[in-house]
Amino acid sequence: MDRLFAILGDIHSNLDALQVVLDDCRAQGVTDFLCTGDVVGYNACPHECLQIVRDLGCPVVMGNHDHYVSSVQNLDDFNPHAAAVIEWTRSQITDDELAYLRTLPFSATKMGVTLVHATLDNPSAFGYVFDHLQAESHFVHQVTPLCFHGHTHCPMIYEKQLGAVYRIDAQDFRMPIGRKYFINVGSVGQPRDGDPRAAYAIYSPKDRMVRFRRLEYDIEAAQGRIRAAGLPERLAERLAVGQ
Ligand code: ZN
Repeated sequence: MDRLFAILGDIHSNLDALQVVLDDCRAQGVTDFLCTGDVVGYNACPHECLQIVRDLGCPVVMGNHDHYVSSVQNLDDFNPHAAAVIEWTRSQITDDELAYLRTLPFSATKMGVTLVHATLDNPSAFGYVFDHLQAESHFVHQVTPLCFHGHTHCPMIYEKQLGAVYRIDAQDFRMPIGRKYFINVGSVGQPRDGDPRAAYAIYSPKDRMVRFRRLEYDIEAAQGRIRAAGLPERLAERLAVGQ
C-alpha cells in the first residue's frame, strides 16, 4: 500500500478540532502521522490531546508551549495570560505526560522528511519564519529535500532552487525533484491566517504531492471548554476569527 502522511501541528489542546482532523485523515486514507509540536497550550483539553497524539505513536517534535509547560520553571518573562495557561495546563496533565513532553526532540527525521516546530536555524530558540530572509536562514540547515514545520499557525510553502528562495501560494502542490521545500502545515487548534477552520497537510511520497486541508469544526464547543476552564476570554474569541 502506498504511504500517505498526515502532518499535524499546533494542536494546542483543542480536542474538538483534533477529532475532526483525525476523522478526515481516516477518510483520506492516511497511513502515517507526523507532528510538528505544540500539542498543548491555549485550549482546554491538554490531557486528551496528549493521549491521542501519544497513541498515534508517531514522531513528535518539541513546540515552544510543550517546552514551557514541561521545562521552564520561571515564568516571570511571560505575559500574565500566557503564564496562566501554562500553569493551568500543568495542573491538568499527569507527571507521566510532563515527562513525555520533556523527552520530545527539537527536530526529527523520518523517511527523508525533517520535522521542526519553528526553524532548523537554532530550533530551541523558536524563531518565526514569515519572510524570505528567515526562510533562507532555515534552509542553510535543511539537509533533506523536505521539512515540515508550524509555529506561526499560517500555512505556507518556501522553495529553494539554485540558491534562491521563493514563496509559493498553492493549495495542492507537486514538488519537482532537485529543489528543497520548507512547508508550514498551519494549526489544527488555533489557526491565525484569518480562516478559523482547522488546518493540516497531507503528503504523498509516491507522487510528491502536498495538499493543505481545512476543516470546519465545532468552534463553540471549544470556546465553551475554554470558558468553563476559566482560561482567558481572548483565547475563546480568537478561535472564531482565526487570528
Ligand atoms: Zn503554536
